[in-house]
Amino acid sequence: MFTIKNHLEKRDSHLTIGGVDTVDLVEKYGTPLYVTNEQRVRDNFRRYSEAFPDADMYYAAKANGNFTIMRILAQEGAGADVFGDGELYMALLAGIPKEKILFNGNSKTDRELEMAVETGVRVSVDSLDELNTLSRIAKSQNRTINIAFRVNPDVSPDTHPKISTGLKTSKFGIPHQEVVEAYKEAVELEGVNPIGMHCHIGSQILDTSPFDEAVNRMMDLVEQVKRLGVELEFLDIGSGLGIPYKKGELAPTPKDLADVVLPIFEKRSKAIGVNLKLIIEPGRYIMGDTTVLLTTVNTMKHAAKKFVGVDAGFNLLIRPAMYDSYHHVVVANKVDAQISSLYTVVGPICETGDILAHDRELPEVEKNDIIAIFDAGAYGFSMSSQYNGRPRCAELLVNDGQVDIIRKAETYDDLLANQLVPTRFL
Ligand SMILES: *Cc1c(COP(=O)(O)O)cnc(C)c1O
Repeated sequence: MFTIKNHLEKRDSHLTIGGVDTVDLVEKYGTPLYVTNEQRVRDNFRRYSEAFPDADMYYAAKANGNFTIMRILAQEGAGADVFGDGELYMALLAGIPKEKILFNGNSKTDRELEMAVETGVRVSVDSLDELNTLSRIAKSQNRTINIAFRVNPDVSPDTHPKISTGLKTSKFGIPHQEVVEAYKEAVELEGVNPIGMHCHIGSQILDTSPFDEAVNRMMDLVEQVKRLGVELEFLDIGSGLGIPYKKGELAPTPKDLADVVLPIFEKRSKAIGVNLKLIIEPGRYIMGDTTVLLTTVNTMKHAAKKFVGVDAGFNLLIRPAMYDSYHHVVVANKVDAQISSLYTVVGPICETGDILAHDRELPEVEKNDIIAIFDAGAYGFSMSSQYNGRPRCAELLVNDGQVDIIRKAETYDDLLANQLVPTRFL
């Protein structure tokens, strides 16, 4: 066994994951196929929690919404950051305690706020408008709900603009200059109990310095809110820690993040005289590198480029098309073969932008080879669609040689599942 990347290894020139040969998986289950290594999920989670021993980890459910993954993380003691009623429903069903669920969202429906009040989770309130609606709903149910405000700290991380969430112009959160006023209003209102403060500055962040700025800004606000007489119980700083998608790319570890965040958090907490629970909301770091997407080569075409046409496209992995993301690819059935030339791996979707990997050095690629796309566990399946009338593929969980199907492949029936045909068309 030789390591190819992290937990991914090779045996007899085949890529293996969780002790299982990917070529065998493809023979048995076909492609496209998402394959997740359970142990890696647990290891990533533990590495993050160990770096922040006193913090609570709220898994960002949107990164990978598979129910078994939520169960695994519930077993590990995770809370959840949910961004909608569907994620809330699943997180509760997965056994994540309601006290460890933060309901986020910049445009929640009244129904979602009712559900938050009924289930007793915490809500991260994104606007004053939402605060008033939530107060009214909680009062009508004779309950009080614990809230935080989502702060827009106006911090600019060096990441793709589509995943910067804490810029001044971002749709998320309350401008930091207006946050103290928001707590004042919350104190006046019935039905809402402000106990926390929340921010999240972006995703795939490879430099820890914006976290320094963000935590300091948040602690400034904690101090001002304390002067109002509001005793907060928690500070949730979101997450956004990047992972190395490219070979040789350097990414900070949770420990590196802790080395930046904890000294500021502890020093300033002491100076202000607060005792806050720190909350982190990792998504990508927990799931990203746990999963490969296996796909078969349908056709080869030597045109302006050498195109490798595979059976997965942006219907199953939209990150390259949406964020210009890089995913490392290998030929899973010949990981030892010599590099032959540059290939561009494209999907079967009727869009010019359906490119999974540009100009990659690969061994000679032929029809029926298996291309493995690395680091597909976060924002992969969870952002998939049925575009072009393509049923979604299966998801497998592997662990030390064991294989479980954790989502069946969809069928043509699923394409029609909720469609109703008025009788005049029958
Ligand atoms: C998406 C999101 C996260 C997780 O971000 P990652 O980059 O996947 O770690 C955490 N908190 C909030 C509020 C989010 O929207």
